[in-house]
Amino acid sequence: METKVTNEKPTFSVVGPVYDEVETLRDFYDRVRAAMEAIGEPWELVLVDDGSTDGTSEIIRDLAFDDIRVRPVLFSRNFGHQIAVTAGLDFSRGQAVVIIDTDLQDPPELISELAEKWRAGYEVVYAVRTEREGESWFKRATASAFYRVINRITEVEIPPDAGDFRLLDRKVVNALKTMREHHRFPRAMTAWVGFRQIGIPYKRAARRAGETKYPFRKMVRLAINAITGFSYFPLQLATYFGFLSAALAIVAIPIVVYLRLSGKAELSGQATTLIAVLFLGGVQLISLGILGEYIGRLYDEAKNRPLYILREEPAELAEEDR
Ligand code: UDP
Ligand code: MG
Repeated sequence: METKVTNEKPTFSVVGPVYDEVETLRDFYDRVRAAMEAIGEPWELVLVDDGSTDGTSEIIRDLAFDDIRVRPVLFSRNFGHQIAVTAGLDFSRGQAVVIIDTDLQDPPELISELAEKWRAGYEVVYAVRTEREGESWFKRATASAFYRVINRITEVEIPPDAGDFRLLDRKVVNALKTMREHHRFPRAMTAWVGFRQIGIPYKRAARRAGETKYPFRKMVRLAINAITGFSYFPLQLATYFGFLSAALAIVAIPIVVYLRLSGKAELSGQATTLIAVLFLGGVQLISLGILGEYIGRLYDEAKNRPLYILREEPAELAEEDR
């Protein structure tokens, strides 16, 4: 179908994580293709199949069979969106890499605008959602609270409402590839590596078909990853609480002694004691839990397992290509 066979390094890599997107994947390909052909420079589309079970991988294979610019990366199981994006970056070869959702919530047509900013010298161009269709009030409220917290307690400044839809210069991709942590939050990681960054506004569409693979539980996980990955603040909370309760005790002791000796008031009550014990017990257990979160992460990093396992090695991916 394609006349010009391009196996040279493309200018643009489009990286799409795919998990059970049979209904939209072909449309996604068509729109990416139209958008990239409008730009008119060599491009490739790295589709990372994150262990789909609904026939998505067959579509990816078909697309790759018909179009050499489609490069499939197939996972052995579901490793999660963040890891799929990471694999996409690992296998991309372009001078600029665009990360985009494959459910058509991110319009491929915007890539040309991202590319323009890249041409103007920016190394990270992220798309900022001005409007979100089809997302609940609850999701928006928790998202905005999350960004406020993370920007306050971590050293990285994550622009609110910037999703994962973004363009990264090769330099940034290479920097990200050196960061092999297991619990990842790519948005914070790209903020952390620095470089010249800029946002451009866009309207995020509602999901075309299928449903979100980000239930509340996964969002919470992601938020914890972001916080623990970039901040010690939760660990320090125990110290703050310790100082606070010690200060309380230091103030309270002389007061109690005075009241007792002067006979002004007889302090009694098991209830007060019980409440104090329960409160401190609670604080201690929570602190232990926080400690556990960090230790668990340390353990995961210490095991040093690969971030993902491929179902099959992409044959055409010679080592020097990477
Ligand atoms: N995705 C993935 N692995 C997962 C979950 C999602 O690769 O375990 C992909 C999915 O196919 C989509 C993108 O990541 O292209 C974003 O997922 P989703 O649309 O479910 O998230 P939302 O847009 O609701 O935040
Ligand atoms: Mg989506």
